[in-house]
Amino acid sequence: MTTQNIVSVSGGKDSTATLLVAIALETENLQAVFADTGNEHPQTYEYLDYLEQTTQTKITRVRADFTQRIAGKRKFVETKWREQGVSESVVLAALEVLQPTGNPFLDLCIWKGRFPSRKAQFCTMELKRDPMLEQVVMPMMGRGDMLISWQGVRADESLNRRYLPELDEVGGGLFNYRPILKWDIPAVFEAHRYMGIKPNPLYSQGMGRVGCMPCINCRKDELREIALRFPEVIDRIDRWERMVQQASKRGAATFFAGSNAKHPRGSIADMTALEVMEIASIRQAVEWSKTARGGIQYDLMIATDATACSSAYGLCDSSDDAEIAREAA
Ligand code: SF4
Repeated sequence: MTTQNIVSVSGGKDSTATLLVAIALETENLQAVFADTGNEHPQTYEYLDYLEQTTQTKITRVRADFTQRIAGKRKFVETKWREQGVSESVVLAALEVLQPTGNPFLDLCIWKGRFPSRKAQFCTMELKRDPMLEQVVMPMMGRGDMLISWQGVRADESLNRRYLPELDEVGGGLFNYRPILKWDIPAVFEAHRYMGIKPNPLYSQGMGRVGCMPCINCRKDELREIALRFPEVIDRIDRWERMVQQASKRGAATFFAGSNAKHPRGSIADMTALEVMEIASIRQAVEWSKTARGGIQYDLMIATDATACSSAYGLCDSSDDAEIAREAA
């Protein structure tokens, strides 16, 4: 029986350290996989190229494709929305924008007619877990090989990671292995130094977490840093908000506010599209991020818990100590 080793790489420090452990141990049949959400910073793509070249380890890129599902949604809008009496201008606006752009994150949101939220965090599964399973893991299963999925999660990141085992069996010959589970942040950066690998440069530019930029769970201070250092990211999200808004039946979609988000003025769900965009758009969220504690009460709408996207699989980087990460980078 052959053993295949798959390391999920995000461009973040923990998954990089995990890959470095696998390399240091001269792990056989090693494959690194990066699930490209389409919402990554260009420096992360450059970093993956650097990592690939420096470690001489190929990193397979996988991307979700929503072409079929968007086509299905078009049919649904053309028939069901009209049957439901949705106004013709809304139907036509949605049909105009329901075209695959080739960007997985944007296409997912256009298809859903909304952005993911902390309560409906479908992004991790749709953009990361499923493409990896469908494009890498499943084709390898059924060959009688043992498959080991290396995950860069650490117990001190969040409650749902604290009690994970170092090794567990999923079934069908697939195992999860978490070699850095007991590591702290300095150990993660020490592994980079030891192996002569630079951490993702975003850590030294005010980012506590590397992955989607921005992540729907990004902290207030991270959003402020992003707006300050990478205003083009905010411009892109602003464009995406307009497109997803057009695909939404109620004509409102904001990056940070899930459909059930609460605001001091009431539930977002009860507001008109215009009201929602006025108080909860990315531009408004950036303004809020510049306020001192106790400023406009957008805290109710934006998740400030940095551990919120810490899926047990380590698919989304969830470091909650930006200071240590910045110092160590
Ligand atoms: S990094 Fe954030 S926005 Fe991106 S997939 Fe993970 S939870 Fe979703």
